[in-house]
Amino acid sequence: MTKRVVLIGHPVAHSLSGAMQQAAFDALGIGATYELWDRAPVALADAISELRSGEFLGANVTIPHKERVVPMIDRQTDDAQATGAVNTITREGKRLIGHNTDVAGFKFALDQLVGKQKMPRQAVVLGAGGGARAVVHGLITEGFQRIIVFNRHLHRAEGLVRHFSRSAAHMELKAMPWHDSIIEAELDKTKVLVNATSIGLVGDDIPVPAEILPADLLVLDLIYRTTALLRAAEATGSRTQDGESMLLHQGAAAFTLWTGQAAPLDVMQAALAAARAVGLRSAEGEPTGAPGETPADDATGTPAAVAAGE
Ligand code: NDP
Repeated sequence: MTKRVVLIGHPVAHSLSGAMQQAAFDALGIGATYELWDRAPVALADAISELRSGEFLGANVTIPHKERVVPMIDRQTDDAQATGAVNTITREGKRLIGHNTDVAGFKFALDQLVGKQKMPRQAVVLGAGGGARAVVHGLITEGFQRIIVFNRHLHRAEGLVRHFSRSAAHMELKAMPWHDSIIEAELDKTKVLVNATSIGLVGDDIPVPAEILPADLLVLDLIYRTTALLRAAEATGSRTQDGESMLLHQGAAAFTLWTGQAAPLDVMQAALAAARAVGLRSAEGEPTGAPGETPADDATGTPAAVAAGE
C-alpha cells in the first residue's frame, strides 16, 4: 500500500518540501506520497490525530504550528524538547514522536560556513522565532560561549533566553534591545552573525544597516536566497551562506527518520532547484496577505520567484 507523508502548515501552497521529498521517495522506489495539508490552527489537533493511522509514515510541521503541535505529540526527541518546537513527526504504532531536524540542518550549514577554520565561540542571532530556537540550540551544543539575541519584540527574545536557561547555564546567552548602535557594538565582538528573522524574504529589506557590518564575519541567513544582508556582508569581505543547505539537510534528516534510508541528497537538491525555477517557495515566512506576491530579483539573477527556507 502506498504510504503517506504530509506537510501540515498554514499556508503551505508554495512549499519546496513537496518537490524535494517526493523526488527522494521516487528515486529510491519508496511507495509514498508527500501531500500538502493547509490546516488553520483550529484544525491542527484533528490533523495530528489522523496521523496515528497505519497509512502514514509521518509528517512535517511548518509555520505557524511548530510550537503549537508539541502538546499533541506523545514523545519528543532531545532536539525537539530542547527547542520547544517540532518540525518532523514519526509514528510508532499509534504513538507519535516529535523531532526537530532544523537543528541538524542548521549545524550542517554552520559547519559548511565555518569550513576549515576553528569553530568560533561568539555569535549574534537576529530573530527569536522557531528558526532562531533551532539556531540557538545548535550554537549551544556546538560549544559557543557567548550568544546575543536581538529581536524586534524584546519580550520574545527574553522568552527564548528563559527557555534555554538550563542548557545555557554554563555560558552567556543574552537578549538585547534591537537598536543599531547596540547591534553594532556586539558585532564588533563577534565572529558569527545569523539572520533568523524573515527580513529579506522578499525585496531588498535588510535587518541591519550595511554600514555597521564589520569585515571578516561569518554570516548565515536562514532565508533561501541571496538576501541584501548577504550581499552587503560579502562586500565587506565576509564569508556568507544562505538557507539552502539548512533546508536540504533538515529535509534529508526527516526523510531518513520516515524511511530508515539515507537521503538521496543530489536528487533532493536538484528537485529544490527545479521547484525554485518554476516559482515555488516555502510557506515559511510567507508574508501575511500576500501569498502570491512575487519577490524582486536577487543579485545573482535568480528568477524573481525565490524561495525561503522551511
Ligand atoms: P517566526 O514567524 O517564528 O519568526 C519570525 C522572526 O522574524 C521573528 O523574530 C520576528 O520578530 C522577525 N520579524 C519578522 N518580520 C519582521 C520585521 N518586519 N522587522 C523585524 N523583525 C521581523 O518564523 P521562523 O523563525 O520559523 O522563520 C524565520 C525565518 O527563517 C524565515 O524567513 C524562514 O523562512 C527561515 N527559516 C529557514 C529554515 C531553513 O531550513 N533554511 C528553517 C526555519 C526557518 P518578532 O518576534 O518581533 O515579530
